[in-house]
Amino acid sequence: MNAAIWILQVFLLVSAITSNTPTVTPQNAFNTPIPILLYHSVTEEAEDDPLKISPARFEQEMRYLRERGYHPLFFTDLPDGSGNNALPSKPVIITLDDGYEDNYTKAFPILKRTGMKATIFAITGNVGKPNYLTWRQLRIMEASGAVDTESHTVTHPDLTKLGAKEKADELIKSRDTILRRLGHPSIAFAYPYGKYDQATVEAVRSAGYRYAVTGENGYAEIGRGRLTLPRNVITSDMTLEQFRALLP
Ligand SMILES: [Zn+2]
Repeated sequence: MNAAIWILQVFLLVSAITSNTPTVTPQNAFNTPIPILLYHSVTEEAEDDPLKISPARFEQEMRYLRERGYHPLFFTDLPDGSGNNALPSKPVIITLDDGYEDNYTKAFPILKRTGMKATIFAITGNVGKPNYLTWRQLRIMEASGAVDTESHTVTHPDLTKLGAKEKADELIKSRDTILRRLGHPSIAFAYPYGKYDQATVEAVRSAGYRYAVTGENGYAEIGRGRLTLPRNVITSDMTLEQFRALLP
């Protein structure tokens, strides 16, 4: 037997014996369907806005995920093709768009209580404005391990309507600000209004983002285009049954 093949076989055998069970192989990690859930505001003043979820409902959904064995991930936990590409079983990504202050006052305590974690897509130009999070609040949440902050542009424009220079500014300046204020690079991006076209995707790629999320329904599969990952929008008029039906 060829020595290289023999060594490979021994390696595979040892890997199979020593690997922990709740993981899949690197190959599968790229086509594992990952539900990415999209929230905005978590508030008692839900009114009739379907994008504003009550804290009670948010907690119910987070508990459901936890009790059913879903493993919350940040985008930084996703396989990038280098190093360890394993995913835990039943991965889920929770996202909160726009960076509303209630993400700190309402959602954050629930994330901590339930052991879940969420990515906040912040509009960097709005951080510190009334009703929006402050950098201090973002730092506190990140330090707890329950939150990761990623970019949702500087001013929340429809990027498909902007010229190349303005597009690049929105993408790069928001990234730079997150690095300067929070001390880590932003690797994920959320398209404002979920709107994108080919030129926008290319601009996101050039700005250095590794992942980008849309507002289209469906599960994310990294192997099928990491810059147009679909998300399932969670609305306040959904029943828990409908919420459950959105999960694989
Ligand atoms: Zn938005």
